Amino acid sequence: MKLVFCYMSWLVSFFLLIFRYMENTFEKIVSFAKRRGFIFQSSDIYGGLGGFYDFGPLGVELKRNIKDSWWRAMVQKKDDIVGLDSSIIMNPNIWKASGHTENFTDPLAECTGCHKRFRADHLEDPKKCPECGSKMMESRNFNLMFQTFIGPVEDSASIAYLRPETAQGIFVNYKNILDTQRVKVPFGIAQIGKAFRNEITPGNFIFRTREFEQMEMEYFVKPGTEERFFNEWVNERMRWYVEDLGIKKENLRLRKHEKDELAHYAKDCVDIEYNFPIGWSEIEGIASRGDFDLTQHQKNSGQDLTYYEEATKERYVPYTIEPSCGVERTLLAILCDAYEEIDGGRSTTTEAVKEKEFLLRINKKISPIKVAILPLVKNKEDIVNKAKDVYELLKKNFNCQYDEIGAIGRRYRRQDEIGTPYAITIDFETLEKGDVTLRDRDTMEQKRIKIEDLISTIKKDMYEN
Ligand code: ATP
Repeated sequence: MKLVFCYMSWLVSFFLLIFRYMENTFEKIVSFAKRRGFIFQSSDIYGGLGGFYDFGPLGVELKRNIKDSWWRAMVQKKDDIVGLDSSIIMNPNIWKASGHTENFTDPLAECTGCHKRFRADHLEDPKKCPECGSKMMESRNFNLMFQTFIGPVEDSASIAYLRPETAQGIFVNYKNILDTQRVKVPFGIAQIGKAFRNEITPGNFIFRTREFEQMEMEYFVKPGTEERFFNEWVNERMRWYVEDLGIKKENLRLRKHEKDELAHYAKDCVDIEYNFPIGWSEIEGIASRGDFDLTQHQKNSGQDLTYYEEATKERYVPYTIEPSCGVERTLLAILCDAYEEIDGGRSTTTEAVKEKEFLLRINKKISPIKVAILPLVKNKEDIVNKAKDVYELLKKNFNCQYDEIGAIGRRYRRQDEIGTPYAITIDFETLEKGDVTLRDRDTMEQKRIKIEDLISTIKKDMYEN
């Protein structure tokens, strides 16, 4: 008995230790993201606002690169997909038709003691408050859509919603696209934009927020072909995370929804999950939605949303496959994947590097700053002028940062920490020979390169490796 007890307490301490380690890693990433200007809490000087974040100079660059990469992969490189930018506030009947007004809810439970509110389905014991231990009230459904009013009168006739997803903007433009573009089933409509959800418990930094951006695509297919296209899209979306964003394959996995998890109309759904320090969690959902959305909008708008297939003379409502992901969750996955701490530093050449080093081994193509231009010294006019010339030359091609403050080793590490893949040093030799040192963030290898070959060398390394 004693032995069993000993074993059990050892097991509990072991899991507690792992849990604490995971939490710590997550906290470190959160603090790093704030310290280096990636992400700030919204309304910071007023004490913040729960579930809202702002993206600083580096965060906004990374966000743009993620969105650009998605847009290139999902629209520009595809012959059968077109883009869209629909409005955030739309006719409220859209949300009635899609089922959001009635069903876009989470179960909300309130404590009878401290009156804190929780998501009932996230509670270990639905009857007991996790904060103060008091009894919980019976849970009720809470609609996650943010309401607003159109025009000057705040009555029920003027109620509108901030969209909780971008997808419905696509469905209601399906007819416009069919009528104005030369698209044929199968084809897709893609959109990136803000979505708003009044989450009961936002948290885990930018993982669950009340305002976020979605990247969604609706792919319209002929009924009967949906399974093939669904599988193709699952593979393609997984490819994007690994090849285009450079996320480690072993940190990604697919989770197929069980039958009882699926919405009544859904045929299939797979989540792409990332191995966050807080555990495996969804970054993207890929759903086979049948003809639910178009049929609902057809019924509620009175418009004909069928598709006429010339070749077979058939008329049908297409089925849809929907890959849907969040920009912020993807960004968080990228930060977690790339973040490294190196005790004692990587190089041993100077005293300063005995300190702990931080490194963001972010994919070179999407890192916020691509090239750092560093004059070896800042008090030699010729070197500084040459460095500024190189900066002017390169910034036409890459997002660059000019930095002359501090010892060169410190400047390299500052750039490593924010994931800058290339650092160029302009020194005395540059003035004589016209070449510079090009340093690689990952290998720390330094090569002498002629100034006129810099652009092609960097492009080759960035896009071919
Ligand atoms: P969850 O189960 O985590 O609430 P969901 O299944 O409701 O997510 P979807 O409606 O499928 O999410 O939205 C697609 C994607 O949008 C998610 O995979 C996620 O990346 C992103 N997303 C959804 N809700 C949020 C949120 N509150 N904050 C940040 N991103 C979100």
